[in-house]
Amino acid sequence: MSSDGLIVKYKKIQDSIDVSQSDNSHIYQAMFQHLPFGIIYRNRKGDVEYINPAGRNLIGISNKEIQNFDVRRLSIEVLDSNGIRLPERDFPGALTLKEGKPQKDVIIGIRKDHKTIWIKANSEIIVDNTSDQILGVVTSIVDITQERDASVILQAQTKRAQMAVESAQMGIWDWIPEKQEMIWDKKLFQIYGYADEKAVAPADAWEKAVHPDDADRVRNESYDMIKNACNKEIDYRAVWPNGDIRHLRSQARIIKGSHGEVKRVVGVTHDITNAVMAEKKLWELAYIDPLTRCFSRAGLNFRLSRSVARALRKNDTFSVLMIGLRRFKDVNENYGLSVGDKVLIEISRRLQDIVEDCDTVARIAGDEFMLVLESVGSADAIEVFVDKVYSKALAPIQLNQDLTVNLDAAMGVSSFPQDGCDAATLQTHSSLAMHHPKNTETRKFISYCNEMSEEVSRKFSLKYQLMSAVKNEEFQLYYQPIIDLDRHTVIGCEALIRWKDNTSKFISPMEFIPVVEESGLIHELGNWINLTAIKQWELWQHLTPDLKYISVNVSPRQLEHSCFVEDLMAMVSAHSISPENLQLEITEGTFLKESLNADSMLHRLAEYGFRLAIDDFGTGYSSLAYLKRFNVDVIKIDRSFIVDIETDQSDRDIVSAILAMNKKLGFRTLVEGVETQKQDKIIHGLGCESAQGYLYGKPTFADEFAEIYISSKVSS
Ligand code: C2E
Ligand code: CA
Ligand code: CA
Repeated sequence: MSSDGLIVKYKKIQDSIDVSQSDNSHIYQAMFQHLPFGIIYRNRKGDVEYINPAGRNLIGISNKEIQNFDVRRLSIEVLDSNGIRLPERDFPGALTLKEGKPQKDVIIGIRKDHKTIWIKANSEIIVDNTSDQILGVVTSIVDITQERDASVILQAQTKRAQMAVESAQMGIWDWIPEKQEMIWDKKLFQIYGYADEKAVAPADAWEKAVHPDDADRVRNESYDMIKNACNKEIDYRAVWPNGDIRHLRSQARIIKGSHGEVKRVVGVTHDITNAVMAEKKLWELAYIDPLTRCFSRAGLNFRLSRSVARALRKNDTFSVLMIGLRRFKDVNENYGLSVGDKVLIEISRRLQDIVEDCDTVARIAGDEFMLVLESVGSADAIEVFVDKVYSKALAPIQLNQDLTVNLDAAMGVSSFPQDGCDAATLQTHSSLAMHHPKNTETRKFISYCNEMSEEVSRKFSLKYQLMSAVKNEEFQLYYQPIIDLDRHTVIGCEALIRWKDNTSKFISPMEFIPVVEESGLIHELGNWINLTAIKQWELWQHLTPDLKYISVNVSPRQLEHSCFVEDLMAMVSAHSISPENLQLEITEGTFLKESLNADSMLHRLAEYGFRLAIDDFGTGYSSLAYLKRFNVDVIKIDRSFIVDIETDQSDRDIVSAILAMNKKLGFRTLVEGVETQKQDKIIHGLGCESAQGYLYGKPTFADEFAEIYISSKVSS
């Protein structure tokens, strides 16, 4: 059908709606041609007779394809609003024709080349006014692709937002301050613990819900929000009508009026209880000791840093008290770990009891506690508190009818700010004070002083110098003569170690030997001493028949090394020395060290024929029972009994008693530290056979020793 034909029909349409009676066919023709929307005309049989250019464009067919128009032959697919293929009989025009009623705003998709455009179709029957006969149906189509896409996106977004609100357990509210009107959504009632949203008015519910402890803060923040017209996020606790406590977070957005005034406040509130609980759990894991519920080491750091910040702000003082339980290991070993745990729990409980709420009790190691005492600053206050620890926390712990545990503790104190201005320093200094050698059982506590740090840093420096000194054998042995008092001959010598630090200053072996012991190098150094002395003996042994032995000092730590005897035997066999020419000086304490396995070690040494001497006799343990168990050759009476022997009768009595005992038990006696002729005379008179001391000769290096004490016999 040509457009002229349609014009005839359209004229009829116009006639039917009585818009114009005049013949304006050219106008209609132009109209159809230029209409911005599509027009499709079907005749009463349903055949498409005309589609205007905009319609063809929309559907995507050419002018030619309109001839014998058949949708099935076209390369397009027609879809309903849900994207499902639409049969031709259900096209709006076809439906209008079939049902005799118009189709309004029907959404249809036209898919061509994998692209879909969406159109809105309206179709209307055209009736001949005069005959009332149906002429056909005209369908208008408009492209709504853009609008539809936008609305689909909007719908999806709305749905997603809805889902997010639901799944985030969020409640929405709207507050109009001017009217004091509050509107809640349904979810918000649930968040505040109401099953039925009609049970209570939102304003009342809100008033009732906020936890009394948080109420002032929340009120102030809300006031601030309105006053400054600023958005806010407030966390607080809510008390549910059934008494449950929940953690909530409200985020509020201000909506301002034209003059900048707050017109409304809209917001969301969500329940963050689970997150708060999880956070609390994590915090506990990091900061709380699970056994005692005290703070852990990390917890202590956190609390101590806070105390430092507070004290700095307020120009205040506070103290850090370290408590180390003594012999707690024995409790574990004797009664088992579960008893040990109970003791720790009880002590922690008692410590918590004697501190103030703001103080901190932390367990920082198995048997060590550190307390931050906010209100304890002065020396007097520390003393009072330490007394409390002794009388209350360390009182005997009765675990059951048969078991009472008594504990003692060493304590060290450092105070802010004089002993440290940061958490780490205060901890180090209280620990230094607690571990200080002066902190013996008789003393109750030790306060930190600067010298302790100096001691420690000196010890550190010594330690590192000694490590390289041991590696590079930077030591020297000096030798001090041992005299036979009857014959006035040199019968032996004691090897005494000498070492110069990096300033070329001699450091006393009394100072550096303990450091070498602590750093675990004493076995290595001990072997060097033994070997050097043995080699020296090799050189000297034939020079004078008077020289019977060379004496070396053996640290108890050397005997802890399982290879001590083997190493010594290997040295002896590799050099021309027999064990009776080597004297090992061992202090009394060594015999009593249970962990040492000294018994078997000393027996083996005696069996091999080494001379054993007990050094510093009289200064150590009071029990003499050990003397019977070992094959001791010589008892060296400590110098402290000789210093005042000229004037002090009791010293003379002690020395003569030791001599009597030695005689009885078959030990030889040597007196150390003889400095004067008078002392020499006294000890000789008491019956002592040998001696050592500055009177006879100071320790000196090998060549000089040989020159002075041996060369008179044979030149070296
Ligand atoms: P000690 O084993 O009791 O050694 C005797 C100390 O007294 C030596 O001090 C010696 O020089 C000193 N002395 C000797 N006669 C007199 C005297 O008449 N008057 C005074 N005032 N002192 C006298 P030294 O060499 O400083 O050694 C001190 C301590 O260091 C030794 O005491 C010993 O315990 C330890 N020591 C020294 N050398 C070694 C060693 O090679 N190995 C081990 N493990 N310890 C050693
Ligand atoms: Ca000695
Ligand atoms: Ca000695």
